[in-house]
Amino acid sequence: MEPLSLWLQVAFLAAVGTAVGSFLNVCIDRLPAGRPILMSRSICDTCHRLLGPRDLVPLLSYLWLRERCRSCHASIPPRLFLVELLTGALFAVVALAFADSLFPQGIVLLLYVGLLIAIFFIDLEHQLVLDKVVYPAPFPSSSYWRLGGPPGPA
Ligand SMILES: [Zn+2]
Repeated sequence: MEPLSLWLQVAFLAAVGTAVGSFLNVCIDRLPAGRPILMSRSICDTCHRLLGPRDLVPLLSYLWLRERCRSCHASIPPRLFLVELLTGALFAVVALAFADSLFPQGIVLLLYVGLLIAIFFIDLEHQLVLDKVVYPAPFPSSSYWRLGGPPGPA
């Protein structure tokens, strides 16, 4: 792969990773409480104000709001920033490691990165490993084998 296209791939997947990390934060917050992850908008846990687009930009919102809610100035948990940063960094590592074989091997690994980050942080905060997070775990690897498995000799 050409160096420029490799770095574009790494930068693109790092950005996608931060957005995935933002979604993982929603899962980490809502799944242990049994709340839906897709059908309700994000709110401040303290003042219950609906968060707007400016409050939801991965990594940047946390920094430009200086770790505080825009309206009530309640502290935003650092875990939100950490999960977005970690997911973006791990997506970049996968993009580098699987530069020439991102599909399907790298994609499967990206799915596991997201799944394991969610499992880790839910376990860390709630001492729970949820069935609804663990049960989907075999599906990415079974899809991988259905898509042809590891690359053969060149
Ligand atoms: Zn607030």
